Amino acid sequence: MKVVKKENVIYDFSSQNKPIASVKLCEDFWVETEDFYCGQIKTEKDLRPNIDISIMFASTGPIEIENIMEGDTICITIKEIILNSQGVMVTSPKLGVLGDMIYEPNTKIITIKDGYAYFSKEIKLPLTPMIGVIGVAPNGRKIHCDIPGDHGANIDTKNIKEGSKIYLPVFVNGANLAVGDLHACMGDGELSGTGIEISGKVKLNVTKIANTKLKMPIVETEDEYMVIASEKTFEDAIYKGTKYAVELLQEFFNLNFPDAYRLLSATCDLQVSQVVNSLITLKVVMPKILVTKLL
Ligand code: CA
Ligand code: CA
Repeated sequence: MKVVKKENVIYDFSSQNKPIASVKLCEDFWVETEDFYCGQIKTEKDLRPNIDISIMFASTGPIEIENIMEGDTICITIKEIILNSQGVMVTSPKLGVLGDMIYEPNTKIITIKDGYAYFSKEIKLPLTPMIGVIGVAPNGRKIHCDIPGDHGANIDTKNIKEGSKIYLPVFVNGANLAVGDLHACMGDGELSGTGIEISGKVKLNVTKIANTKLKMPIVETEDEYMVIASEKTFEDAIYKGTKYAVELLQEFFNLNFPDAYRLLSATCDLQVSQVVNSLITLKVVMPKILVTKLL
């Protein structure tokens, strides 16, 4: 099976980046990823302010998907996530929603073993491995890997886990897929500014969704479809995600706007992906009991 090595990284999603690997549709392949700090924090003496910020957010890629063209929609199945044995969480001034209460940077190294993250002697957490950064090159301008958007990237949605699928619109021929920022555990919001950051590898498989043009990412889990909307403010993200979810419901059930709007209100949930990146990311969640097959 093809393995895309973690030495091949990008810091921006861009049509200008030359693909470092190429995969076929329906082919399983592995992508190795560095942790968010690009391996710079190995012990509790390594503090965030002392590391090279310019190499944070390294994402592995870009990977060309053969026979995928601008305007297509791809579906990426997350078949497996394998984590390495050491995770890290830092706190640092201004980081996360309570960053004003942090005066000294502090690093916590967390051992990952036998399906658990050993947070402390008393607290061990069942692993919930997920992918923080997964995206394709946007149209035109380059966008830093830090910034979530309609092309995916740093959307930090904990539902992007083993067994899930993410659907992405494609803006350049070959898609230029890249992946990074795995978390061993992360709650909705990523409130302190980090999940349990960790390196590892993911097994992916990409298919093409015919006759579909997406406006923004959609995540599919066992029970739900999620519209993933990123914007500067909560208000704008709520508006954007809600508007698109209503459009999708109109199309799926052939409804007029008021009925689709009512149906959304009666059945769909607004949830938070993350509130700590340069744009915030929300999810409008449609239950599969209602929407049996969206894509
Ligand atoms: Ca992230
Ligand atoms: Ca992260």
